[in-house]
Amino acid sequence: MNWKEQLQQFVNTIERLESYIHLTSEERALLQNIGGTWGTTPHFAALMDPNDVDCPIRKQVIPSRLEQQNRYGMKDYLIWKENRATTEVRPDSIARQYEDRVAFTVTQTCGIYCRHCFRKELVVDGDLELHFDVEEGLRWLAEHSEVRDVLITGGDPFLLSNEQLDYLIRKLRELPHVEMIRFGTRTPVVLPQRIDAGLMKVLNGYHRVPIWINTQCNHPKEITEETAQAVFRLLSCGVNVGNQAVLLKGINDDVETFRKLHQKLLSVRIKPYYVFYCEAAPGIDHFRTPVEKGAELIRDALRGHTTGLAQPMYVVATNIGKIPLMPDYYIKGKDQHEYCLQNHKGEQTTIPNIPE
Ligand SMILES: *Cc1c(COP(=O)(O)O)cnc(C)c1O
Ligand code: SF4
Repeated sequence: MNWKEQLQQFVNTIERLESYIHLTSEERALLQNIGGTWGTTPHFAALMDPNDVDCPIRKQVIPSRLEQQNRYGMKDYLIWKENRATTEVRPDSIARQYEDRVAFTVTQTCGIYCRHCFRKELVVDGDLELHFDVEEGLRWLAEHSEVRDVLITGGDPFLLSNEQLDYLIRKLRELPHVEMIRFGTRTPVVLPQRIDAGLMKVLNGYHRVPIWINTQCNHPKEITEETAQAVFRLLSCGVNVGNQAVLLKGINDDVETFRKLHQKLLSVRIKPYYVFYCEAAPGIDHFRTPVEKGAELIRDALRGHTTGLAQPMYVVATNIGKIPLMPDYYIKGKDQHEYCLQNHKGEQTTIPNIPE
């Protein structure tokens, strides 16, 4: 199946879903009554375990009754998170937290409607009415010469056509202040067929303004031969590929899965960039761990345990930007003369403390 056929066969009916997995009666009842959007591509659906309700792929795709128990999720989460209630006048498509870079939303369509999505109000539930106009966004960007880095997001921007992507990239490259273009897309994982010859033609080649992609892969099971090939095609076009995982309770919050995920990402040439603490969007309480969990996993599964290239930065995304939440066990003590440092095994060493 090519990518358009994957989308035509989108797995968003009970009938199609049942050709991949055995639904429990609870799952079926939920799916019959659910409002909002759900589903994924045949490629991703085929990775679900047909019998295991706790399958890490399945949990990202199939709604849980726990979504209705919203104790900690914030009301109007995206308005808060994307600074939409500020006095600065911006198009709906532009989310801003930083001086030199913005997130530019170009579509609400995805190749998977992730149950843990922090933009759930917009993408999955459809509760938030925003108007995404690419031309309006481009006009705003042309007037803001302080923006040197444009992060194109959604939804999933790689669900736009090649013509639309080509236009967008060309228009951004015409702006003298834009020094880099980034895409956030899950297609290398959920729709690797998207990275085809047509898209490669759009992306390919040396250019003053480079393109960086961050995908979202949360579990080693998501990494297939098709994904490996798609990433290689992107890299061969001169496009850099990183990963932004979400820390998800019961999916990737154990030492073994967490380490395997990061090692496997590197084995298919994806550089781990961020691991996000699962945000306080409504209806996703059941995916959230304590905040410290991510730092513990970096301490116990990654740093010192495997290659430095496999180390992501653990952050929580907030309305005032991303805040690093890295482990803090390294500095055990310090005096006038020296620092006492500790490694992943608990061994200690000292280095001199140099006065300013
Ligand atoms: C995440 C994000 C960025 C990019 O942040 P980096 O740390 O540079 O990857 C920019 N703008 C907004 C609104 C974001 O949410
Ligand atoms: S692909 Fe991204 S935007 Fe779409 S549902 Fe998943 S996390 Fe949300």
